[in-house]
Amino acid sequence: MNLFLPRQAVDSFRDLDLTDLKARGIHLLLCDVDNTLSILGDNGCSREAVQFLHDVRKAGIHPILFTNNTKAHALRVMHGHPDVEMHTFVCKPLPLSFWRMMLQKRLKPSQVAVLGDQLFTDMLGGNLSGCYTILSLPLSKEERRDTKLMRKLENLIYTSLEKSGKLVRKENHVRIL
Ligand SMILES: [Mg+2]
Repeated sequence: MNLFLPRQAVDSFRDLDLTDLKARGIHLLLCDVDNTLSILGDNGCSREAVQFLHDVRKAGIHPILFTNNTKAHALRVMHGHPDVEMHTFVCKPLPLSFWRMMLQKRLKPSQVAVLGDQLFTDMLGGNLSGCYTILSLPLSKEERRDTKLMRKLENLIYTSLEKSGKLVRKENHVRIL
């Protein structure tokens, strides 16, 4: 198994089929924040992202914001929506915080999905932990400096996945084959 290859890919969180996810036995959705739910530099999540988290709950799945960023950043992004559970400084892709989360929630890896925009943090961490991984395209081209560097390496992985016929990626579209 390729540890970078997501199990599913969507163009954005808006395209995630929550009914299908629930039918797969998913109880918990670990959502990345930067460029997955919110655009870096924006002062908060869009109304759509807030609605998405609401819809996730309505589908019977518990959403958790799961970010390598700081608590202050996560709180700023979720300004006005303090009821969303958030875990910060989770050190993706290390599987420790994923496993800790599963222990806390008494869930198996097969019951946990990870949604994120980066192969090296979200997908690798989710796959190493045995979770169901869902890649979404970054919401913006604005990135933190360290992420910009990782994107260059990430492009090499994308090229290799595309060449081996496992994934197709265009400007605004990504799919697992
Ligand atoms: Mg991200």
